[in-house]
Amino acid sequence: MFNSKRLGLARKRRGLTAKGLAELAGLSEVTLYRLESGEKPDDLTIELLAKALKYPVDFFFGDDPEEVDTAAVSFRSLTKMKAKERDAAVAAGAIGLQLSDWLEREFSLPDPNLADLSYETDMETAARLMRQYWGLGERPVTNMLGLLEVHGVRVFSMSENTASVDAFSFWRGGKPYIFLNTFKSAEHSIFDAAHELCHLVVHKHTSPQRSPVAEREANAFASAFLMPTADVRSRMTRFISVDEIIRAKKRWRVSAMAMAYRLHTLELLSDWRYKSACIELGRRGYRLEEKEGIERETSAVWKKVLTQLWSEKMTKSDIAKKLNLPTDEIENLVWGLTGSTARPEPIEGGLRAVK
Ligand SMILES: [Zn+2]
Repeated sequence: MFNSKRLGLARKRRGLTAKGLAELAGLSEVTLYRLESGEKPDDLTIELLAKALKYPVDFFFGDDPEEVDTAAVSFRSLTKMKAKERDAAVAAGAIGLQLSDWLEREFSLPDPNLADLSYETDMETAARLMRQYWGLGERPVTNMLGLLEVHGVRVFSMSENTASVDAFSFWRGGKPYIFLNTFKSAEHSIFDAAHELCHLVVHKHTSPQRSPVAEREANAFASAFLMPTADVRSRMTRFISVDEIIRAKKRWRVSAMAMAYRLHTLELLSDWRYKSACIELGRRGYRLEEKEGIERETSAVWKKVLTQLWSEKMTKSDIAKKLNLPTDEIENLVWGLTGSTARPEPIEGGLRAVK
């Protein structure tokens, strides 16, 4: 049976309005509304829709797709985000869950190992407790994504072509999920990952709608988690120049602006020095891009999975076919990794093939 919800999902995923899709498929807007409200299309119409959406025909047949609750999804810069961009990102989440369920069936992934810090109101403390829970001490996090994966967070990429979607996260069936937009700098993505970690551990039980307070908390948590107080204090001199900020940001794998902000929070930069550092960084172009940036982190889990599949002569297209999804949707979710070039590193905590 043709599933109208699947049609709606694919349309949103492609960032199209009903009108836009109708035009693309050569159908009337009324027809499209009817189809999305449950009317069954004929074979030719399904073909036209599949072609316009670049989705396999089989995708439109099957159970209702599990939707990611828009309210449960904590979007940053929600006010700036256009509804279409939000819908496309939420739809990426829904597609991601289909891929995730396949992954869980085929492979054994690390169990979630996250502290519940929902009682904590001070973010410096929350970040310290989270570090303690994972035995990180004061050292910089060398691989934020790997750290999350080892502790059972399911991390997917989104390549949404917009700066207004950063990331989102949620719990589902006792498992934590994070979706990260790779449109921004590698440093920005790491900060986003730490920000979402806060939502998963501190805001686990609060109402799904994220408040400005929760957003501020998540940023404070990310800042403290990535740049631990004692480590920063012991390594920075008394009078910090902009060049030092740029050197320091590499150690903690954050943006220069995030580094400066942290130094100001820790009162290692006075108000005046912080302000002039920001101006100087802006003058050097750091507001527009992250200069002297680090390499983007990618998923160790997916590297390993794709490599194993490759050895069995299975590619991303084969996964896509199995799931009745377009290959580009799989690419979008797995950090652009491929089996052939992937060099898997051993994953602590274990990732075993069950087949
Ligand atoms: Zn947030």
